[in-house]
Amino acid sequence: MSANAAASMCVVCKRRDAFFFRPYSGERLCKKCFVESVEAKVRGTIGKYGMFSFDDRVAVAVSGGKDSISLLHILAKTERAHPKSSLVAVTVDEGIKGYRDEALEIAAANCKTLGIEHHVVSFKELYGFTLDEIVTRAGVKGERELTACAYCGVLRRRAINVAARDVCADKVATAHTLDDEVQTSLMNIFRGDILRLAREKPVTDEVHPRLVRKVKPFCEIPERESTLYAYVRKIRFQDTPCPYASEALRNDIRAMLNRMEEKRAGTKFAVFKSMERIRPALDEVVKKDDFKECVECGEPSSSGLCRTCELLRELG
Ligand code: SF4
Ligand code: ZN
Repeated sequence: MSANAAASMCVVCKRRDAFFFRPYSGERLCKKCFVESVEAKVRGTIGKYGMFSFDDRVAVAVSGGKDSISLLHILAKTERAHPKSSLVAVTVDEGIKGYRDEALEIAAANCKTLGIEHHVVSFKELYGFTLDEIVTRAGVKGERELTACAYCGVLRRRAINVAARDVCADKVATAHTLDDEVQTSLMNIFRGDILRLAREKPVTDEVHPRLVRKVKPFCEIPERESTLYAYVRKIRFQDTPCPYASEALRNDIRAMLNRMEEKRAGTKFAVFKSMERIRPALDEVVKKDDFKECVECGEPSSSGLCRTCELLRELG
């Protein structure tokens, strides 16, 4: 065998041609071994952080994009080995014309193929407005203080929690990838938001009985690999970006991290691991919020009036 042929051979099975090079580990993998390696990594992450109990009912937050659809497929596979647990998919319809409709259809089709119950909640039914209506009410872009993503982030977090409770879930699994986690950590540092930095983690703390705990089984999967997983497995997902996607700081940090990763493979994992090591110390010095109930809606909140009600009040 020539050196070149050896270099293009999968390092795991040593039989099939490699199609993917993983720069941070130096592995060359064939499609089958790549898929298996991603699934094994997710199982490893779930085990390492103790994300699930054997009889958990897990709500998977499925937007219809590549990450959440890949996660749904992997958890569906894992769940088959645990007959006492159950999976249900929850989707939030923010009401973004020409974008969310397609995602909803794709999420529903994937759930049908996998035989997973699918539950949808909408901004309209929960808050009385679609995101499009909120954006119009809040004023044209540039004049309003908050971006569409700022509204969307707060309202969607609440909606996912409500949906998870509706379906009696013990945990809610979100498809935040390694990239998302590292970007969020750096954003919190750049903003000086140490409380958020301490709070965001692969498994959220139990802070209130009405706040379903969040787990992130993809927190050690680079976004590039979650995308590739969906392509290789020929899973259908929505790939058009949201028309409001505008988080400027996140975009800057994403571009910077991608540049760094290209020059020094493993940078994203290094930041993630640093955070893991810093977090116990942060937990000791950061005073965590005491969760009580919002005076207006009764949902868990760290202040008298929750952020959701605050935003809705501003909108009138
Ligand atoms: Fe919501 Fe912004 Fe994401 Fe669009 S890009 S779905 S507005 S958070
Ligand atoms: Zn409230």
